[in-house]
Amino acid sequence: MIYLDNNATTICYPEVSEIIENYSLKNYGNPNALNSFGKEINNQISIARKSIANQMNCDKNEIFFTSCATESINWALRSSTYYKGKRNKVITSSIEHKAVLNTLKDLKQLSGIEIVEVNPEKNGIVDPEKIIREIDDRTFMVSLMAANNVTGNIQPYREIGDYLSKTDIFYHIDAVQTIGKLNFSLDNIKTNFASFSGHKFHGPKGIGILYIKNGTKVRPIITGGGQERGFRSGTQNVAGIIATSVALKISNEKLHDNMIEMKKLREIIVQRSKKLRGIINTDLDNSIVNTLNVSFPGLKGQVLVNALSADDVQTGISSACSSRTDGGQYVLEKAGIRKEIASCSIRISLSSFNSEDEILEFVNKLEKMVNLLKI
Ligand code: PLP
Repeated sequence: MIYLDNNATTICYPEVSEIIENYSLKNYGNPNALNSFGKEINNQISIARKSIANQMNCDKNEIFFTSCATESINWALRSSTYYKGKRNKVITSSIEHKAVLNTLKDLKQLSGIEIVEVNPEKNGIVDPEKIIREIDDRTFMVSLMAANNVTGNIQPYREIGDYLSKTDIFYHIDAVQTIGKLNFSLDNIKTNFASFSGHKFHGPKGIGILYIKNGTKVRPIITGGGQERGFRSGTQNVAGIIATSVALKISNEKLHDNMIEMKKLREIIVQRSKKLRGIINTDLDNSIVNTLNVSFPGLKGQVLVNALSADDVQTGISSACSSRTDGGQYVLEKAGIRKEIASCSIRISLSSFNSEDEILEFVNKLEKMVNLLKI
């Protein structure tokens, strides 16, 4: 199988699966137990937290473990809304992941907040000035993604952080698509919150991270036994936490070389797509280097993805109708791409596990399918 849907999820590093086995079969103690078995596991969690903080250039007390990025996002947005005071306005972009957009919709129902969704420009990137222009004395929160999961386009999360650092407005960055694809370091980004998901960078599923800047007013997301310093109760996903710390370390160590390689492989796909009259929906100069969104007019994205799947190639769909979790046609339409073109798009997302041979085989299969299926 040629797997090119790495923005949806990734294969685990072998080191990660070893850790999962180890913490399932050998070191399976409860980290909150007072026996020595549990205490040692607790110590391993502390080491993993410290390693993640070192990797991300923040304090270990700023790293909290959750079950996925969706939970991290819910936590940041719900907590900030709780502390909004008399202010009522949230600013976000219209191309955020549904984890942000639907959580804000729920908060609108619950707390009557006003949501302003700023549209991207024609290149699929939000103009930071348009967000800044919306900020006023009623604004209590801004949430913006670092890189878009459908197009790969990098959003102006730094500029917005710089601007908001002079205010007391909560700021959340959805950084899920950054690790292993972009140099993302919390020491030079000004934000209260940043969300991550282990399975997007060759870690396991079922583990998320929320960075919460020291001093940020925050409410617990789950109450109970008081784990995660009282903010996220429930017995920790020990294997997931330790495996994610290792996945992050490996991803960062190989970041530079992997970025060069993925960019090279993406370019092979870009060139063949252009030859096939594909329309490139990704801003190739301002995007994470593993992602390419391309439309083949006259050929529905869903049809092409299905045909490639039948030929043992897994790609992603941006069409809203059929992909429950990743339906992202709206992301293209919000940038002004016509429905007929947006519905003919597919998302190809690489990882460091893809080889040049695989990509050469893929572009041949792509050419065959496009020529066969295009009306
Ligand atoms: N945010 C972005 C940008 C994503 O791409 C995803 C997953 O695709 C999420 C949030 C949600 O991550 P998870 O499903 O791991 O909670």
